Amino acid sequence: MRRTTGEVIVVGAGPVGIACALALRKHATKVSVLDRRPLTTDELGATFDHRVYALSPASRALLQSLGVWSRIDASRLTPIDRMQVWSDADAGVGADATPTAASSLPRIDFEEGQPLAWMVEHKALMAALAGALHASDVSFEVVPSIQTLSDADAAGKRVLQFEGGIEKRCELVVGADGRQSQIRALAGIDIETKDYLSSAVVANFACAHPHGGTAFQWFSAEGVLAYLPLPGNRISIVWSVSTARAAGLQTLARESMAEFVACVARGGHERLGALECISPVDVVPLNRVLAREVVKPGLVLVGDAAHGIHPLAGQGANLGYGDVGVLENEIASRSALASIGDIALLRRVARARAEPTVAMAETTDRLQGLFKRSDNVSKWIRRSGFAAFGRSALMKHLAMGHAMKN
Ligand SMILES: Cc1cc2nc3c(=O)[nH]c(=O)nc-3n(C[C@H](O)[C@H](O)[C@H](O)COP(=O)(O)OP(=O)(O)OC[C@H]3O[C@@H](n4cnc5c(N)ncnc54)[C@H](O)[C@@H]3O)c2cc1C
Repeated sequence: MRRTTGEVIVVGAGPVGIACALALRKHATKVSVLDRRPLTTDELGATFDHRVYALSPASRALLQSLGVWSRIDASRLTPIDRMQVWSDADAGVGADATPTAASSLPRIDFEEGQPLAWMVEHKALMAALAGALHASDVSFEVVPSIQTLSDADAAGKRVLQFEGGIEKRCELVVGADGRQSQIRALAGIDIETKDYLSSAVVANFACAHPHGGTAFQWFSAEGVLAYLPLPGNRISIVWSVSTARAAGLQTLARESMAEFVACVARGGHERLGALECISPVDVVPLNRVLAREVVKPGLVLVGDAAHGIHPLAGQGANLGYGDVGVLENEIASRSALASIGDIALLRRVARARAEPTVAMAETTDRLQGLFKRSDNVSKWIRRSGFAAFGRSALMKHLAMGHAMKN
């Protein structure tokens, strides 16, 4: 029998926080979501949001179970049917150089006979999440700055105090407030950070040739460039390069859009023919922020508040949805004696999430590091490792299985 007891406050109405609130409402008496900003209700219109997610089959299943997936405008969903990943690192190619024939570069193809992921714009996902939230009895509130967060008292309750003196009390606080999580800081949880000294250039393009549902990615000594499919002949790019290079590319886009576009086309070996930029060009600084603990009595961190990772594998939100799935399962199967913020229950969540989180954080960290180095050993690992990986159906299947499960 399902137990619906306890009050939950989710701080942060991002893509992970709202999903978490909807999932926990099935098992709690009352769930509230708080954010310092109103919910995104921007019309999608004819423009395409250049903040995009590649959502894994596991994330899709979770969003389906919450009644969110069916609310995503189907015309804004693009399945990724295959991935092609190239290693340029030792071919002497930079975006400013003459492109090497793409056919001569080591390449790995991923295809599983089913979509590997689905591309969705941030605004389309947020509109669907907000729709599901409004249709539920989960409350949403814009709140002032949080001043204090108490420890759990004898009754297992925590108190959040806001600027202006308002107080809110609950048995479980979910910190879903992103990389700079205030809940994490107020709970006294340390973080491990790493500055990648690089940034991601993000923008959308119309392309001359169809992408055919393929996500393309080029690893080079300069950085990692991804072409991600959007509806029609459109793509979204995420180009992780040094901070200076990213600033240079953004300036180039401002001063000479034609040269910027040519640079992006060369970086992708002219794979999709002529490009046209159809969005603003944004730059996002890249770092890694890992919480040293993700649970305390009556408190759990999910999503980027628990683990902010490098975006090269497009797995940040997917990892967050993995947290939500495990938290929901543990809460659903709790014993009659356990409260919703029970520390033994929350520790099981932390243990279950440790392996996938560390695996993804380390994989993305090592990959971005490996392709930056110019020593001979790194070059050898890149060449031989990439080629061996590309030849091994089993390794590719295992790697894909891991990413699709997150
Ligand atoms: C360039 C780039 C590309 C990416 N591509 C992908 C991808 O393809 N696939 C993928 O899975 N992931 C991707 N990611 C990662 C993904 O964007 C994040 O993992 C995801 O946004 C995390 O969601 P979240 O809800 O945990 O946090 P956030 O999206 O950061 O949301 C946090 C929410 O908390 C609120 N908040 C913050 N502080 C407070 C406070 N003190 N009080 C109240 N509210 C507060 C904020 O207003 C916000 O609404 C990418 C990231 C980058 C940078």
